[in-house]
Amino acid sequence: MTAIVRFAPSPTGRIHIGNARTAILNWLMAQKTDGQFVLRYDDTDTARSTDEFAQGIAADVDWLGIRPHRVEWQSKRFGRYDEVADRLRAEGRLYPCYETAYELDRKRKLQEARKLPPVYDRAALMLTDAERAKLEAGGRRAHWRFRLDGRVVAWNDLIRGPQHIDTRSLSDPVLVREDGSYLYTLPSVIDDIDFRITHVIRGEDHVVNTAVQIEITQALGAKPPAYAHHSLLTGADGKGLSKRLGSLSIASMREDGLEPMAVVSHAALLGTSGNIHPYTDYRGLVDGFGLDKLSRAPARFDEQELLMLNAKLLHHLPWEKVKDRLPGDSEALWLAVRGNIVTLSDAGTWREVVNGGVTPVVAPEDAEFIAAARKLLPPSPWDATTWKVWTEAVKAATGRKGKPLFMPLRLALTGLDHGPELAQLLPLIGRETALERLG
Ligand code: GLU
Repeated sequence: MTAIVRFAPSPTGRIHIGNARTAILNWLMAQKTDGQFVLRYDDTDTARSTDEFAQGIAADVDWLGIRPHRVEWQSKRFGRYDEVADRLRAEGRLYPCYETAYELDRKRKLQEARKLPPVYDRAALMLTDAERAKLEAGGRRAHWRFRLDGRVVAWNDLIRGPQHIDTRSLSDPVLVREDGSYLYTLPSVIDDIDFRITHVIRGEDHVVNTAVQIEITQALGAKPPAYAHHSLLTGADGKGLSKRLGSLSIASMREDGLEPMAVVSHAALLGTSGNIHPYTDYRGLVDGFGLDKLSRAPARFDEQELLMLNAKLLHHLPWEKVKDRLPGDSEALWLAVRGNIVTLSDAGTWREVVNGGVTPVVAPEDAEFIAAARKLLPPSPWDATTWKVWTEAVKAATGRKGKPLFMPLRLALTGLDHGPELAQLLPLIGRETALERLG
């Protein structure tokens, strides 16, 4: 079956790794089934939604390698929502309520005091036409609630398994505010029906919404889509991610120079039974994808693990895949340094080591040794065997071996006590520069 899925962010901020995971799981589902991915902006909150955030989200989604087949804006569909809301009003499923927030709060407190569940008492359903007219004449405007059936709504969640929610335990949800604006619940259902969404894959914070949305879908005479609610991400400390969302935004990961496919691989494989392996494109991830592989347990997101995965991905990346992003560098430099970097920008450190900006470090007790080594530098041209030829000669002449042989040479040539293999760096540094540094 080809799936039509959607990713539905509210453009009231940028997306973070948790939202990205939802987007990626939907994209994998679409790819796996040759289906379609709808990017839907849930921007019914026109006061908080901005074009700038929407554009930022589009850029983030694109950076993650997701190519939506269709883009939709809820703010462009109010006419359609009005039409459906009117139909529900005519059928008595959407009813006007006039309680103020203060009055609702008082009701809740009384229920609490009587140890009753804080469920809306449907007092507004009892109002006569005359009472309603009086409230309106007094300046009150209606908000609109959906009259739930009050039954057990069941669905087979593709991640969580069979779910049962008794909607008698829920308040009739407000779908339309006093000012006529829509809460997210109804537009989402209408869009899912109109865009023929087959699978709703989203975070488990929406499980209760699903019971309500299934009722609304059925009230509209449509068949609900399949639902799959994934667990939410926690930080390495096991707590929710919400506190540090800034640093976990996709935009900041991009600015930090992370590889999109490291982020994608991490997000896609967290909380699954599969090993977290860095894929360089979606193919392998799509092949291994299945909603049934996602665990119900919260998935831990650890920035350090992401960095390690990024490093692992770079270690094997061929020159072809990075050359556009490293203009002016050579394949030889890339092959020499890729095993020693965590993000691509770290390549700059080693570029400097090769091209200049090095302060050679020579300990006084090594001065004589370095001078002897300098004299033994082989003639040009240099290649990958030069280091071995040279150090064999130095070893024979000075009697040094192991670390006392190699470390002073590394310190003098690079100014650092660690780094890529000198066999690869040395020909890049070249004889002239080596002579200078050893001098
Ligand atoms: N805008 C909603 C959110 O970001 C979408 C939830 C859904 O996928 O239905 O939570």
